[in-house]
Amino acid sequence: MSAQLLQTPIDYLKGVGPSRADLLRKELSIYTYGDLIQLFPNRYIDRTAYYKIRQLQDNSSEVQIVGKVVHLKMVEQKRGKRLVATFRDDTGEMELVWFRGHKWIKESIKINVPYVIFGKCNRYGSVFSMPHPEMELLSEHEQNLRTAMQPVYPSTEKLANKGVSNRIISKIIQQLFIETGGRFAETLSEPLIHQLQLLSKREAMFNIHFPKSQELLAKAQFRLKFEELFFIQLQLLMRNLLNKQKIKGFVFDRVGELFKDFYDHHLPFDLTGAQKRVIREIRHDMGTGAQMNRLLQGDVGSGKTIVALMSILLAIDNGFQACIVAPTEILATQHFNGILELIKPLGINIKLLTGSTKTSERKEIHEALENGSLHILAGTHAVLEDKVRFHNLGLAIIDEQHRFGVAQRAKLWHKNTTPPHILVMTATPIPRTLAMSLYGDLDISVIDELPPGRKPIKTVHRYDSNRLKVFAFMREEITKGRQVYVVYPLIQESEKMDYKDLMDGYASIEREFPKPQYQISIVHGQMKAADKDYEMERFAKGETQIMVATTVIEVGVNVPNASVMIIESAERFGLSQLHQLRGRVGRGAEQSYCILMTGHKLSTDSKTRLETMTRTNDGFEIAEADLKLRGPGDIMGTQQSGILHLNIADIVKDNQILKLARQYAQQLLRDDPSLASEENLPIRHTYAKISQKKNIWNYIS
Ligand code: ADP
Ligand code: MG
Repeated sequence: MSAQLLQTPIDYLKGVGPSRADLLRKELSIYTYGDLIQLFPNRYIDRTAYYKIRQLQDNSSEVQIVGKVVHLKMVEQKRGKRLVATFRDDTGEMELVWFRGHKWIKESIKINVPYVIFGKCNRYGSVFSMPHPEMELLSEHEQNLRTAMQPVYPSTEKLANKGVSNRIISKIIQQLFIETGGRFAETLSEPLIHQLQLLSKREAMFNIHFPKSQELLAKAQFRLKFEELFFIQLQLLMRNLLNKQKIKGFVFDRVGELFKDFYDHHLPFDLTGAQKRVIREIRHDMGTGAQMNRLLQGDVGSGKTIVALMSILLAIDNGFQACIVAPTEILATQHFNGILELIKPLGINIKLLTGSTKTSERKEIHEALENGSLHILAGTHAVLEDKVRFHNLGLAIIDEQHRFGVAQRAKLWHKNTTPPHILVMTATPIPRTLAMSLYGDLDISVIDELPPGRKPIKTVHRYDSNRLKVFAFMREEITKGRQVYVVYPLIQESEKMDYKDLMDGYASIEREFPKPQYQISIVHGQMKAADKDYEMERFAKGETQIMVATTVIEVGVNVPNASVMIIESAERFGLSQLHQLRGRVGRGAEQSYCILMTGHKLSTDSKTRLETMTRTNDGFEIAEADLKLRGPGDIMGTQQSGILHLNIADIVKDNQILKLARQYAQQLLRDDPSLASEENLPIRHTYAKISQKKNIWNYIS
């Protein structure tokens, strides 16, 4: 198919009018024929199988049921109205629910006429409920051809509400194949296709949308996943961002005075086993002659700072400088103060460089860095600026990697002719599989042990109906002198509603905890920065016992005396966000608690998230669970999730294909670095097209 044809705006396709085109653009970012053809099914379902209501199970898979709507009613709720239908077959009854699009549905549903409904069920008590089902009259249903592998395309609530069902999407894709003849140009080379026994692009595209058999579907999926991962790896390799071969680095072979002195005389506590192990790993790395690229993962409070410092001391002992870079001024300042305190007895110096450092001081810092008299520089992105030059930077530590792109890491490399050793520290662990696909060359160390005496945070799930008990618990903790966070969700889409929830919540807490006995702080996104700071400050100083807030408190707050974190509407938060929030407590010596509040209606995914949170405090496990929950293509509700934007591959599940893709990309570049050969022409074309459109950074949010 010509490239031009793929550029055709979606409006031109038969069956796609202006309003559908608009929806496709807004909801799924589908602008052209090419975009539409790349909308791959999430999964395939067997439309030849039918369930009875009595057979329904409490799981998340889709079911198809034949029955009749016997009753339709509107139910008023705090969060708005919903339309509820009673649906009956010869074995029982269930509910169909619509939160939006009521008018359209009320007008089109026929009572007591047989329908085939299709969708996911949730169970509430003994009643099953299907939100926004796909519905087809049985009489029409019987005329359509059905297969055991009908594609299910990604969708959104809006699309479903506006009647753009899976069936419609499937139809317009069919139309696209008819109009274009399904002739897709090959994107991989002949030898590669041969070696891996891949389907051709054309066959793969056809079978991903209209699988002829299980076997062909599997082959189509393999081919397309491979292709997607292959071109990502190619981009990373071409831009020299992956370095399988180790780069020459400085050799830190001396465990010198400072390190020994600090270890023997100035350690403020005994290191945990995990800290010792990680320090050994880092020491080994920096002594080998290869450049270190290591990711240090450790939950909030696991003691990464001391590991950072000991690594820095090794660098200084070997005659080098070190820097530590953090994403925000608050965090950079915390590092600066923490390290300053620890190195007091050692006679070395550290400075802080951020956006708000005064020009005169900045000048001094630049000078001291260049003449080598300054040993350690802590700071924000300001450290990365070109005008910041080191005498000999031997070690760069980056805190909170998820906010730094690979590009910034690359900037650090070029501070010297020999790149410094790099240690990336993060409290939001990146699953190993993900780290591998993004950084390939990154080794990983994990601090999987908390300092002794630290009590693991107890996490529980409570229903809104138990609120009074939760209030009583808050009161007990406050009486013991502790402080409490109460956090509300704030999701842009429904900002007004969320704001109202927050204010309602605040009012009810004020009633339960009256002044002057209790003082309450409130912080939310609509406040001025200065007012927020003031309120935070009051809470930090212990002048207020309760902090009611939206998620703005996620980053950078450290109030060790706060021992209770209450998260309202917890089902609306993602796992990593919940974990981050929980990390705000458990910072002192006291037993800390995290209480996840929800209503009774919970989706299967929400339940999994809540279970994960109550089961484990291990950020690593949580990150893996998080990644598994958000499968690729799961567009419903993924606006703020998803680290890698992949179309079909899943870096957790398709790890083997990823390895294969990397291996073949490496081999290709070894044999034909500029992709000049005739047989590699399709790859070169595709690569050019992809890099024009999709920079590798687009994959990483
Ligand atoms: P994070 O990994 O979140 O950066 P920090 O390095 O800030 O953690 O350490 C958290 C707290 O635990 C600090 O107050 C630190 O002094 C203390 N700490 C770190 N390691 C130990 C240890 N081995 N024994 C006792 N306390 C420790
Ligand atoms: Mg820290």
